[in-house]
Amino acid sequence: MNNTFSDKNLNTYKPTTINWTLIQSEMRSKLGLEIYESWLKKINFVEEFNNYLLLSVPTRFIRDWITSRYLDQILQVVKVHKKDLVRIEFKISELKKDGNKDVEKFSSNEKRENISFIKDSYLQYNRIDPNKRFQNFITGLSNKLAYEASLKVSENISHYNPFYIYGGVGLGKTHLLNAIGLELKKKNKVMFISAERFMYQFVKSIKANEMVKFKEYFRNTDILLIDDIQFMNGKEAMQEEFFHTFNALLDKGSQIIISADRPPNKLSRIQERIKSRFSGGLVVDIQKPDYELRKKIVNSKVEELNNLYSEQFKISKEIQDFISTEITTSIREIVGAINRIISFSRIYNKIPSVSETKVILKDLLNLTENKVSIDSIQTTVCKFFKISKNEMLSSRRSRYLVRPRQTAIYLTKILTSKSLPEIGREFSNRDHTTIIHSVKTIEKLKENDPDMVNNINKLKNQILYNNKENEI
Ligand code: ADP
Ligand code: MG
Repeated sequence: MNNTFSDKNLNTYKPTTINWTLIQSEMRSKLGLEIYESWLKKINFVEEFNNYLLLSVPTRFIRDWITSRYLDQILQVVKVHKKDLVRIEFKISELKKDGNKDVEKFSSNEKRENISFIKDSYLQYNRIDPNKRFQNFITGLSNKLAYEASLKVSENISHYNPFYIYGGVGLGKTHLLNAIGLELKKKNKVMFISAERFMYQFVKSIKANEMVKFKEYFRNTDILLIDDIQFMNGKEAMQEEFFHTFNALLDKGSQIIISADRPPNKLSRIQERIKSRFSGGLVVDIQKPDYELRKKIVNSKVEELNNLYSEQFKISKEIQDFISTEITTSIREIVGAINRIISFSRIYNKIPSVSETKVILKDLLNLTENKVSIDSIQTTVCKFFKISKNEMLSSRRSRYLVRPRQTAIYLTKILTSKSLPEIGREFSNRDHTTIIHSVKTIEKLKENDPDMVNNINKLKNQILYNNKENEI
């Protein structure tokens, strides 16, 4: 078996590791697109153990949000596939927001290649999303050219052939392909498929001895839209087939539309002659949105959602500006950010403040100021219990000092990523066993003491949001 997982993990993988891609798509249909896009999509599969799954999410806030609201439903979905899985654990994978994102996307897609989908047919993946239309594609300097060329292609086929759109993640390529597909579907036979899916169908058809059907299917279409061609990295035989399909379609005047995250000549693992075919038609790019476009998108998205959920949750101008200023790299993230704010507002029945917004959107922002320091935990706890910092850090064991000290240690454990010895050092070089003891003591007390739970929550809010009124 072609295994793309790291060697380190090989021993722990059982032959039938759960199909996370499948679980994700089931979560999407079970919990709805909005919840999925805002929260659940952020979950990554890490490892499967005998009776539990280890997953990762980018921030604590997302973990807590998911745990408190959706964990049961996620577990239900998981259990349908593996009933011996009884719990789910999350680890936080604080992703650095930099150029590594593409790499990450590649590796997760490479993993997915090996995973089989059930009950698929060509038709099932030939889905065009009716919500991604030309009418709701907002234009600015960075995407105007791609938009106009797409409109032209949808009005007048085989003029620009093939038509190739490229640009970074979340900038609207799939949206435009969809919009073209929706228009052309009115009068033509349209096939819309991701390159990954094309490869998968190809391999499956070979195995099932159904290559004739495969060829027929693809060569019969009037319009072939292939999304994310950069993921086509298959064997020679597949590229051969793709090349022939491609030529056959062009010969008979079918329109081919391709999207990718890079220009044709930068595609790796794709034959030169295919790349040169890609460059032979019209190639346009989509750039990152400028501030004007981001603002327009935020405004229109907010308006769209307001219409959907009544005017109750009007996202303030301040937050709209904050999102337009801070989320700069992708339109998908802008849309996701707004969905999250709305989803927060509906559950808490209020619009978050800017400082809460920072926490909710932390993984989408480049901000560093959200980092919780041990010093701020100690200060907040001391103030809360009206003791001095010297007292907290002293070795005195009076009752009125012990509890606050344990509380501060507990909060440090749950709110920072510091190790036990590191925490020990910050609390006057206490031993790590003392730290474990403190954490356990507070956890125990929380089980039976509502006051304790209350205090911890208040402290957590003060530390995280620096704001006594904002109780989350
Ligand atoms: P890509 O395929 O380039 O990664 P998508 O087309 O999936 O990006 O776009 C990501 C999200 O952003 C989608 O929800 C899409 O509808 C939205 N989006 C992208 N560009 C625009 C735009 N110009 N106007 C409105 N929505 C957009
Ligand atoms: Mg896309």
